[in-house]
Order: sequence, then C-alpha cells, then structure tokens
Amino acid sequence: MRRCFGKGEKMKISDIIQSGKPCLSFEVFPPKTWDNVEKVKAACSAIAELKPDYMSVTYGAGGGTREYTADIASFLLEKGVTPLAHLSCVYSDREGIHAQLAELKGRGIENILALRGDLPKEGLHGDYKYASDLAADIAAFGGFCIGGACYPESHPESPNSAFDIDMLKLKADSGCEFFTTQMFFDNNILYNFLFRLLRAGVNVPVVAGIMPVTNVRQIKRICSISGTALPQRFCRIMDRFADDPVALRQAGIAYATEQIIDLYANGVQAVHVYCMNQPDIARSIHNNISGIIKREPV
Ligand code: FAD
Repeated sequence: MRRCFGKGEKMKISDIIQSGKPCLSFEVFPPKTWDNVEKVKAACSAIAELKPDYMSVTYGAGGGTREYTADIASFLLEKGVTPLAHLSCVYSDREGIHAQLAELKGRGIENILALRGDLPKEGLHGDYKYASDLAADIAAFGGFCIGGACYPESHPESPNSAFDIDMLKLKADSGCEFFTTQMFFDNNILYNFLFRLLRAGVNVPVVAGIMPVTNVRQIKRICSISGTALPQRFCRIMDRFADDPVALRQAGIAYATEQIIDLYANGVQAVHVYCMNQPDIARSIHNNISGIIKREPV
C-alpha cells in the first residue's frame, strides 16, 4: 500500500487505515470569515509538510462555514495530503446536501465524515434526523469513502452504552467504512469500547481521536458537555501547570504522546490528533513518534 504524498494524489481513508502501517492524521478547522482564510491555509501548509496520512477539515456547527470546508479540503489536496471533509446534516435538506456532494466530487475530494451535528435549540430543521440517514444518502450518491463519529464514553444523548453501540452498527450498515472517536484521556476506555464494538459485530476500523491539551479551562468545559472522563493523573498534571502556558503545553503534548504510543503498542492502527490548527503541536507529536510511524523527524 502506497501512501499519499505526491501532489494531487487521492486515496480512500479506509484503504489508508488498513494499509498495515501506523496511520497518523491531523484535524484542522476552517476559518469563520474570509479574512482569516490565508492564516488557516498557512497553518494547513505547515501541518501538511509533516506528510500525515490524511487531514480532516471540520464543518462549522450549523453549516456556517460550509464553503470554507470544501476550500480548505481542496487546498490540502493541492498540497499532496488526502483530505477528509466533515459534513453535517442537521440544518440541511436533501437538495443542499446533494449540491455539496457534487461540489466535493468536482473538487476531487473522495472522503467524507458524515455527521449529524449538534441539535439546534429549536429542533431539527432539515431532511435528515441522524448521521446514519446522511451516510445512507452519501452512499446512494456514490463515489465517496464515508466515515462517522463514535463516542467511547457514549454520545451524551444515548440512554446507555448498549444503545449507543446499536446505533453505531446502524451507522456502519448505512455505509460508514470507518469511525473516528471523540477525544478521550484514558486508553482503557477506548480498549473497552473496541471490545464492545467487536462483540456487537461491528467490524469497522476505529481511528482514535487524541487531543493534546493546552488550555485547561477550555478542556474542562468541553469535557463536561461531552461527558468525557478526566482521569485523576491527567487532572493533577493539568492543574499543576494550568497557569504556566509553556509548561502546560509541554505536559499536554507529553500526555498525548504517551497515550498515542500506548495505542499503537496495543494494536490500534490509526490515531487522529486534534491539533487545533497549531503546526507546532502537530510537529511535536510527529517528532515524538517519528520512529514509531517510521518517518523522518522534521
Ligand atoms: P448521530 O450518529 O446521528 O448520533 C446522535 C445521537 O443519536 C446518538 O446519541 C445516537 O446514539 C443517536 N442515534 C443515532 N441514530 C439513531 C436512530 N436511528 N434512532 C435513535 N437514535 C439514534 N460537529 C460539527 O458540527 N462539525 C464537525 O465537523 C464535527 N466533527 C466531529 C468529529 C468527530 C470525530 C466527533 C466525535 C464529533 C464531531 N462533531 C462535529 C460533533 C457531532 O456533530 C456531535 O457530537 C453530534 O451531537 C452528534 O453527531 P453524530 O454524527 O455522532 O450523530
């Protein structure tokens, strides 16, 4: 299996993940306004130079930045990195989604992370109720490798973990060829989740989502909403360095590196780093594991 390093090359993420080599990817988010496009592109270029196996581009909650997702994904393709464009459906009708699929296809983007998006306060707007509805529609449209989101600690709306796993099975049956996890800070939670998926007969590869923490207040807020557990060891490290940005950054990267090494050592094939458009974080992680993923440090 050849990796996608040359300009303009395309690959399906399901093939990359199953190539048998440790897979490393990074996530970026598009700008909210046009004046920030160049800044985001500069960050993307710097991260692309690390030659990750692929890079994902998020989709603005409510679809507010939808055109920038496609723009940034195309930009990554030009830089020789396989892009994964996120697409959420909670505000969309079928016609709008089909127009976006046609645009992504026209731009040569062939990987989509099919998402529902967070529910608006006023309730559902569009034609789709769940990500599985969107995945099925993309599969019917044809020509894309489709991924979906998963939650090792269950999605906050799920009544219990068994229901959550059943809904993931539905998502896989609807066309998702891989799942990317919500961030987690205790690898045992992921291993337990992978076991439960297998027991339920869900054989779709899972990409482990890792967040190097550089802002304690922000991470505590996000985790309290998403229900992500913060292990005592993690909290002690974060609290100790919360007021020292340089120390916190080092500690956050070291913690994430340790998690990633443990994941690869235990047979996890693919790790996705939520590097929040920060090339130095992506570079540090890349260099810390360059021997493991068999790439030159940069
Ligand atoms: P779904 O898979 O539809 O699940 C939502 C809930 O509905 C779950 O509780 C599930 O168990 C339940 N459910 C699913 N199907 C059924 C059914 N048939 N019947 C009953 N219940 C059902 N948000 C963005 O806005 N933009 C992004 O770019 C983005 N990227 C993300 C990337 C990752 C890796 C992750 C983990 C999340 C991302 N999100 C993003 C957040 C995501 O949109 C929210 O977590 C959202 O609340 C759920 O989206 P989903 O695709 O998992 O939904």
